[in-house]
Amino acid sequence: MLKVSSIFYSIQGEGAHAGCANIFVRLYGCNLTCDFCDDELHKTTMEEMTFEEVYRRIKVYPAKNVIITGGEPTIYDLNPFITFLHQKGYYVSIETNGYNFSHVKKADWITYSPKDWNHVEKEGFDELKFIVDRNSPVGKLLQIESVKHIFIQPQNFMHTPNMENVRYCVELVKKYPQKFRLSLQMHKFIGVD
Ligand code: SF4
Repeated sequence: MLKVSSIFYSIQGEGAHAGCANIFVRLYGCNLTCDFCDDELHKTTMEEMTFEEVYRRIKVYPAKNVIITGGEPTIYDLNPFITFLHQKGYYVSIETNGYNFSHVKKADWITYSPKDWNHVEKEGFDELKFIVDRNSPVGKLLQIESVKHIFIQPQNFMHTPNMENVRYCVELVKKYPQKFRLSLQMHKFIGVD
């Protein structure tokens, strides 16, 4: 059984796959309580669903890409569910704060968004993403040695962009072009979930 907060179909707005249509499966619960969290839904509502029940909900959409997000999805061992989705022909991506990579080792793509910048894992993921505002200790990101993409993403408002932070991140990318790429949360610019 999975603790599901919501299932919806939208555009991936973040990271290397921005612009692609995806089915989002948002799971309930998180190991952290970040003050900038924009995922109120994952804390308030939840439905226990079997894999088959989830499949019945997602198969109505034409996309074959599923993003499992939260909350923090790796508080659950998702490998059996990922295998199930693979058997149904889906490409499976995970959005994680890095709580437990072994719980999603069968995924096709893992986006790692560390919240403690003093402890950043070196492997187990495909892209790194950091939420940045003017007070962020960006110097710590410059120390990270990674061959993977490092995305910096402006800390936005719940449903809309924070243009001050967007401009700040654009300047950082221009200043450190070998280090950073911009992740915009495109969905907040075009007004979709
Ligand atoms: S890790 Fe993500 S989902 Fe969890 S509290 Fe922080 S921002 Fe919210």
